[in-house]
Amino acid sequence: FDYQPAAGRYERMSYKYCGKSGLQLPLISLGLWHNFGSVDNFDVATDMIKYAFDHGVTHFDLANNYGPVPGSAESNFGRILRENFRGYRDEMIISSKAGHEMWAGPYGGNSSRKNLMASIDQSLRRTGLEYFDIFYSHRYDGVTPVEETIQALIDIVKQGKALYIGISKYPPEQARIAYEMMAKAGVPCLISQYRYSMFDRAVEVETLPLAAEYGSGFIAFSPLAQGLLTDKYLNGIPEGSRAARSSGFLQLSQVTPEKVEAARRLNEIALRRGQTLAEMALAWVLKDERMTSVIVGASSVSQLADNLKALEHLDFTADELREIERVLSE
Ligand code: NDP
Repeated sequence: FDYQPAAGRYERMSYKYCGKSGLQLPLISLGLWHNFGSVDNFDVATDMIKYAFDHGVTHFDLANNYGPVPGSAESNFGRILRENFRGYRDEMIISSKAGHEMWAGPYGGNSSRKNLMASIDQSLRRTGLEYFDIFYSHRYDGVTPVEETIQALIDIVKQGKALYIGISKYPPEQARIAYEMMAKAGVPCLISQYRYSMFDRAVEVETLPLAAEYGSGFIAFSPLAQGLLTDKYLNGIPEGSRAARSSGFLQLSQVTPEKVEAARRLNEIALRRGQTLAEMALAWVLKDERMTSVIVGASSVSQLADNLKALEHLDFTADELREIERVLSE
């Protein structure tokens, strides 16, 4: 185990303050939802974490259930840390979450205090960490009172198991209650995590302005629409792609002719900008000043390398933005 992080790593990345906090996050974060589980290649997973860290990606996004099998992304990440990153814990922001189906029975998959408290202990054990930098409520479950979930998050910080807390996918009404309650408790919401990409802009209406109103940072997941906003599906469904894999969450039925056609036209705009579509899709999400970071997924080092190149061309001309709007509105 002779990995030495690249000396120039912090010059390769830009960092941004997360909402009204003192914590800076890299513009591009790495997510471990897919490709880090027990069904995946551990050496590729290790290489991606090293490549990310060598390029200034300090933030790694996990959840209790990431795998498959559920939990295995956390276990694998813990092993990668132990084998390669001893001495670097203080240069990393490691996030996890609880709230989706994880273990059997009535306590294994909701946003109750019981679930969150048990889950964070499990996640700490799997990763071998002493604390998470950010711990999220993964979702509003529709039944548990928001106050119960948020009090659990606040207590998790007080217990020293997480430094900051966040919410993910909360509808605006519940998000507002959460922001208010956290602020009153003196443990403000650091960050809000929602799906956002050129193909899914729902958060622009209420969620993103609301997070900004409360000083919460904002981080986009699935910024490439799980791969639809890359050039990979322009000529069919490649073998081994997320849409082709049984363990992938992108359904074949989501790769519609309309989406592929839109991607083809966006790809042309990207090429004119001297970028891949993946790079342009990430730059597009980051153009909103309220956006703290995007969480990308990758199944290889070369994809990650492509995604990080987005940083080389982040700005858009008014013409380019208009042209993109035209494609997205058709
Ligand atoms: P993306 O939209 O970035 O999709 C990633 C996938 O797209 C990759 O696995 C790969 O798929 C393909 N891809 C990535 N880069 C390229 C490239 N340059 N060229 C071609 N194909 C590429 O994000 P995810 O959907 O993976 O989500 C990112 C992270 O967000 C997750 O890991 C997780 O941390 C978080 N998340 C949070 C959720 C929540 O509920 N809070 C929900 C979902 C995600 P392929 O396998 O086909 O190669």
